[in-house]
Amino acid sequence: MSPALLLALLAGMGPGTPTTQGATFEYSGGLWFDGEGFRPGTRWVVDGVFRESAPERVDVHIDLGGRHVVPPYGEGHTHLLEPDLAQAYSDHFLHRGVFYARDLGNAGEVFDGMHELLARPDTLDAVSAKQGLTGPGGHPLQILDQVVGAGLVPEWVREEGRGVFVVSSQAELEAAWPRLLAAHPDLVKVFLLYSEEHERRHADEAYRYRRGIDPALVPWIVEHAHAAELPVAAHVYTAHDFAVAVRAGVDLIAHFPGTGYEPELGVQAFQLDEEIARLAAERGVAVLTTLCWLQDGLAPALQRQLLDEVIVPNLDLLLSAGVELQLGSDQFRATSDVEARALHELELFAPLELLTMWCETTPRGIFPGRKIGRLEEGYEASFLVLEGDPLEDFAATERIVLRVKQGHVLLPPDRAFPVPGGR
Ligand SMILES: [Zn+2]
Repeated sequence: MSPALLLALLAGMGPGTPTTQGATFEYSGGLWFDGEGFRPGTRWVVDGVFRESAPERVDVHIDLGGRHVVPPYGEGHTHLLEPDLAQAYSDHFLHRGVFYARDLGNAGEVFDGMHELLARPDTLDAVSAKQGLTGPGGHPLQILDQVVGAGLVPEWVREEGRGVFVVSSQAELEAAWPRLLAAHPDLVKVFLLYSEEHERRHADEAYRYRRGIDPALVPWIVEHAHAAELPVAAHVYTAHDFAVAVRAGVDLIAHFPGTGYEPELGVQAFQLDEEIARLAAERGVAVLTTLCWLQDGLAPALQRQLLDEVIVPNLDLLLSAGVELQLGSDQFRATSDVEARALHELELFAPLELLTMWCETTPRGIFPGRKIGRLEEGYEASFLVLEGDPLEDFAATERIVLRVKQGHVLLPPDRAFPVPGGR
């Protein structure tokens, strides 16, 4: 970090929390990302918002020394557990430049335990689906057992309707619905898994946790969620799950189709067709990537086969149809830097596409009503200053030397999490 940058940082900070209340900032000498590349320029920050012309008074001048500036990153699929560790979660995300997160399934009371901290302008911003909807013996009931067993969340998370709603009929769905709305979710999550085999799997204990909600219930859920002005996200694995979700009118696909591969179904069960990709594009459905799992759990030969026969063809279909992709990792105690790195290493996107998806499309998808994802007049003054050009060297996205959120200079520590359940 240049001495000028450091000096300016110190000048802009009061004692205690780094606040910039009332101060106006001038950031000169930066190379600002505009969605296509980097352009030299100066930005001013007044009341937490970007100005492209100088205000009457400038309190703090920061020379960015020719560094690259990008909007902060988004995490489109996470789970913010452990409200006792809310500060650690926020610091972890902010340190990695991820200012916006979408929680795709949680106990409402667990997520609400983080609300006070997350409501501040200098902490992580997050929305949550809270309790989702699945079928009896369906995913994610085993995850609830795991997180309770590991001591991450209280026992009561396993009680019906507190960690997830389990419904097997229209009558049960209608009974659960008022409770779901009463938790005030920001969106609704439904769990579809191998839905083409729902009839066979729902009664067969061999498929416990490898099944989800009755696909016939999804249109009712979408209709009623939309009536309550809530978008709907669907967990999917197969191409059939994807089609059920898109035809029912969901807004977001929580996993890339082809994840959750089961050899007994064969690759065809996971391959999208052109018609459904086109319908998804027409309806404005966004698809989350969640492809870092490819690197963790699979043997290299299977990984290669899945990439060649499922992931890449599906990606090509979705992109050529014009479907919006967002970045999401679905990793516990981690954030979308893991996913960005995986997508870069898998060479699925050019650096410009990947950066735009991470710092513009994903944040706007999470908070569609906010002026974020651009470094322009009238937008929230939130940005990351990088050491290096991320279009030349994608790893520069992780070399963050300055973080500013809504005008606040942030100094989040890179804290380690305690051993799960060990507190
Ligand atoms: Zn998830």
